[in-house]
Amino acid sequence: MDKQKTLVGKDIELAIQFLKRNELVAIPTETVYGLAANALNPEAVVKIFEVKQRPFFDPLIVHVHSIDEIQKYVTYVPMAVYELAKHFSAITYVLPKKEIIPDIVTSGHNTVGIRIPGHALTLELLKKLDFPLAAPSANPFGYVSPTTAQHVLDSLGGKIPYILDGGACSVGVESTIISFETEIPTILRLGGTTVETIEEIIGKVDIDIQSKSNPNAPGLLDSHYAPNVPLYIEKYPPEYSHDEIGVIAFQHHHEGVPLHQQFVLSPTGDLSEAAKNLFHALRSLDNMPIKAIIAEIFPDESLGRAINDRLHRASVKRARK
Ligand code: AMP
Ligand code: MG
Repeated sequence: MDKQKTLVGKDIELAIQFLKRNELVAIPTETVYGLAANALNPEAVVKIFEVKQRPFFDPLIVHVHSIDEIQKYVTYVPMAVYELAKHFSAITYVLPKKEIIPDIVTSGHNTVGIRIPGHALTLELLKKLDFPLAAPSANPFGYVSPTTAQHVLDSLGGKIPYILDGGACSVGVESTIISFETEIPTILRLGGTTVETIEEIIGKVDIDIQSKSNPNAPGLLDSHYAPNVPLYIEKYPPEYSHDEIGVIAFQHHHEGVPLHQQFVLSPTGDLSEAAKNLFHALRSLDNMPIKAIIAEIFPDESLGRAINDRLHRASVKRARK
């Protein structure tokens, strides 16, 4: 792909111009930045796969500005979706799609993942467009998702014309994905809205986040969200000295490791704050001349579950036999 100049700014009208020309625009959401194209136009959508180097079997999330808009693109909206959408935005609903959604968006499935993002600038953009936006995270496939415009520029600069800058993402991990294909709704990806809060609204849900039983959700591939520097969970590899190591900690620094190589995600023990800081910490450590990243395991509750899920997928896998 030819190198092009990537502009960064808050100009919605300019974003609209590019999107109408079937170009890509990175957009802010409360979870992570998305790489957006006209979801109804396969020629625009194919560019997302090219720029991200994303396999075509990985379906995209469609972004709309209201529940009425969701109705335009799916054949059936369960009551649970109305209830959840009243309270939360960091949820993607997997629902039976209407024909108007092209197959390339859903990787040939008859369901579509659809979401109303919780970010004022992007909602304003969506309201001014007469099409929805297909937008996966704005990072190369398999790498750490971006939570600032600068992160997008770092990895996609020169490949897209415009980044709509909406500041740092307030949630910082991807949306929770919930499917309504089954009698009991099933969570396919842990994310920005916790299982506990979802269950408070709609009752018991199933959780199926195993990539093997769920090959259609590559956000769930064993290795994903991974920095280039190898990441280890809770163990210091003996071959490296403390000077060669970076740390992702919850509340406290680790003794012996240089302080500037440590990211304490929330000194007060707030898991939402930790989630918000996670990807910035991973990206920052990945840009340092270190040999390994050591991450703590977070409390297995609330947003700690999504954080642990991302860290496990980012970690070095045991050698396969
Ligand atoms: P990303 O926005 O990059 O996190 O990627 C979107 C993720 O949404 C994909 O990796 C899939 O796991 C999930 N997804 C999107 N559409 C569907 C669908 N129809 N069924 C199941 N999962 C979906
Ligand atoms: Mg992604």
